[in-house]
Amino acid sequence: MLKIDHLSTSYKTIDGDVHVIKDLDFEIYENEIFGIAGESGCGKTTLLKTLYDIVEFPLVIDQGKVILSGEKNGQPFSFESGQIRKTWWNNISYVPQAAQSVLNPIVRLKKQFLDSIPKSQRKNETPKQTLDRVAKYLEELSLSPDVLEAYPFQLSGGMRQRVIIALATFMSPNVILADEPTTALDVVVQRGILMMLMRLQKQLKNTLVIVSHDMGVHYQITDRMAIMYSGSIVELGKTEDIFNDPVHPYTTMLVGSLPRVGDKSQKVGIPGRPPALTNPPPGCRFAPRCPHATDRCRQEVPQFREVKPGRFAACHLLNEEVQKNG
Ligand code: SF4
Repeated sequence: MLKIDHLSTSYKTIDGDVHVIKDLDFEIYENEIFGIAGESGCGKTTLLKTLYDIVEFPLVIDQGKVILSGEKNGQPFSFESGQIRKTWWNNISYVPQAAQSVLNPIVRLKKQFLDSIPKSQRKNETPKQTLDRVAKYLEELSLSPDVLEAYPFQLSGGMRQRVIIALATFMSPNVILADEPTTALDVVVQRGILMMLMRLQKQLKNTLVIVSHDMGVHYQITDRMAIMYSGSIVELGKTEDIFNDPVHPYTTMLVGSLPRVGDKSQKVGIPGRPPALTNPPPGCRFAPRCPHATDRCRQEVPQFREVKPGRFAACHLLNEEVQKNG
């Protein structure tokens, strides 16, 4: 469905290139909720923008591509980086970070819905007919169609977020990309938004990709997830396996630092900071913080490989173990 094929990107700056994504190579499947986790500045949002084909200077793709493919209404489709934007809303849609501020606060929502739905997708309808369809869809999502008459500033943050999700999913896209969809919302509203996203994914049987720094979000709703560190994916696998049996040293420390119900042990964060993307260390980028780092780690970039069935990681230690065990 979404193939990320040896993708590398960078930002061109007057001080030189800042490599934000390094040789990512993995797939996101049909009918799954896929999470992308990692600390702030690790490249999650840049990756999501690249998946959605928002690659505008100073961001450039240095190598590789993204391929979006599948079938809709019995018709197969396939788009690569540079073409994916042609199919925005129809095959892929995006719920941006701070989505609530995307809505124009002084324009009624019905106009914003009409302006956002491409004419080609309106099936020769009058604006009233399209709005009737939107109203019906809002009802299906347990939202009152009355919101169409409202201005965004009249709605709560949680309600604005629900409206944005309704807008992004109105045309039943095959893939929905959501960037930090619950940030800046209180815990109860967060849960409601996550439940809404899960329900929609089940209903549409499509692919939902969620970027969040909050591991709790991934634990609650994702099927598989990737852990990013300093522009690379260091571990990828089923979410329950990553939480129950993390294999990469970074993931192990990250999961070990999370509070758990009934666990009274003292939790400590991961010592040190991620490296600056302007000047990353050679070799493994986690080496300066890794308790298992060796000279090889400090010199050679570890390969991202399958270390257990369905589990991928980028670590010399794990790769050596795999080689040893044949
Ligand atoms: Fe640690 Fe080396 Fe593995 Fe990097 S490659 S995570 S430094 S053991």
